[in-house]
Amino acid sequence: MFRSYLANVASRAIVIRKNNARFVSFHKLKETLNHFWSSDSKKLPYKHVCQIGDPVLRGHAMKIEPEVIKLEDFQKVITHLINIMRSYDACGMSGPQIGLPWQIFAIEHTMEHMKTSDEVIKKAYEMEVIPVTIFINPELKIIDHTPIILYEGCESVRGYSAAVPRAYEIEITALNASAEQFTWRGRGWSARIAQHEYDHLQGELYIDKMDMSTFQCTAWEKINKNDGKIHLNYLPKK
Ligand SMILES: [Zn+2]
Repeated sequence: MFRSYLANVASRAIVIRKNNARFVSFHKLKETLNHFWSSDSKKLPYKHVCQIGDPVLRGHAMKIEPEVIKLEDFQKVITHLINIMRSYDACGMSGPQIGLPWQIFAIEHTMEHMKTSDEVIKKAYEMEVIPVTIFINPELKIIDHTPIILYEGCESVRGYSAAVPRAYEIEITALNASAEQFTWRGRGWSARIAQHEYDHLQGELYIDKMDMSTFQCTAWEKINKNDGKIHLNYLPKK
């Protein structure tokens, strides 16, 4: 068992290196999405979110050639990414999380998300509504380095959360879903969401930056109340 485990780890490390400094070309797109519209749910992109330990979450995501973005197949990937984000009721989702090591992420913070937080949290986190926004090949610049330490979670580290320091204000230059360059600026909670998703494209997770003493199972109280009989679901909520 021990040996086979080591072999498994070694093969994963090779996969991660292979992803470095590559571009998603027309050929790569076609090759990856070959079975996308089949009913086989194991084909890419996934209809579930990958969990920590999956090597796709630790590699450097590939840039996407601008001419690929307007292709129908890629537009379907964008729609799929948004649908998965919404089905998990998440406010951000990146390519690697659905099995695609590509430089793309979506963010959205809706009025419904706002309603689930009380006024004190909304104020402390500086929450605001963010319309759905797609970032492709993003470059991030920190405008205000002041570290703000707040709790956050990740669909790829399901069932846990921790306090994570994030820069207060950032600016991102990226391509949108029409392959046009745009610049986006965010502060507070919006900046936090975007930094979290941007990190996914660098192979980084919030656990790499968190205050380790605050790392917690989000259901720890429920587990005590229910004699440990709690089920953790890895499928979308909707
Ligand atoms: Zn995440």
